[in-house]
Amino acid sequence: MDNLHNFIPQKIEIKEERKAEIKNPTGCPFCQGTGIVLEGDEARLCSCQEALLLEKRRKEANMGGALFHKTFQNFNLSYYPTYLTIHKLGVTYRQAAEMALKASKNFCKQYHKGLRSGQGILLQGPVGSGKTHLAAAIANQLLKDGHQVFFLVVPDFLEDMKLSYQQEGDSSESQLMQKAKNADILIMDDLGAHNFTPWTQNKIFTLVNYRLNHLLPCIITTNLQLEEMSDAIGARTASRLVEMGLTYPLLVEKDIRLQKCLE
Ligand SMILES: [Zn+2]
Repeated sequence: MDNLHNFIPQKIEIKEERKAEIKNPTGCPFCQGTGIVLEGDEARLCSCQEALLLEKRRKEANMGGALFHKTFQNFNLSYYPTYLTIHKLGVTYRQAAEMALKASKNFCKQYHKGLRSGQGILLQGPVGSGKTHLAAAIANQLLKDGHQVFFLVVPDFLEDMKLSYQQEGDSSESQLMQKAKNADILIMDDLGAHNFTPWTQNKIFTLVNYRLNHLLPCIITTNLQLEEMSDAIGARTASRLVEMGLTYPLLVEKDIRLQKCLE
């Protein structure tokens, strides 16, 4: 197995730490457990290895449970009515959802091509409007393309941060904050569905500000209207979020989760 690593050509571009993780999947019919298949003169990673690496990236990304099944393909536009209009924007609910879907797919394509401006996406809508689905679909696409993602549920993140603060004080920044700050792509789900205190505002500002300064993109979902943001998360963060990327509203007539139960 040690020798195997020497056969991996440069063009596969596997990071050193990944090479060490390649396991011997005895019984794989394609590579007979070597992890490598030959196509003509070219050696490439067997699909069994790609699946293992994807599974590992998914775990590191915090993409458990139902999140893993949310994709662009099963983002159902029929939940967004064509007979209701967002008057401010002059588009129907359906058109707005189509725009959000297109922007999300586009973000993944651009990122994968290496076009990285640090610009992200803000998905804005009430509970059950499909914004978490779209954010998870972005994460799943990027993971599949081999990128590093961290999916953060903001209210849970703040709770965890508070616990570590109570236990250790604020002298050393928690590992969780470090991971959130430095993830290649950070998904911040449900911003605004938490208590608003100077402490939570400060933590969110620290995170968002750091990422913007380092051109690291965030995909954010929020139930907050733009005009509510200043009060809720602080004027400084609100203004940085507006800088961060385009906002896409997602509106439905009825909570999609409730509609699914009735189907
Ligand atoms: Zn294999």
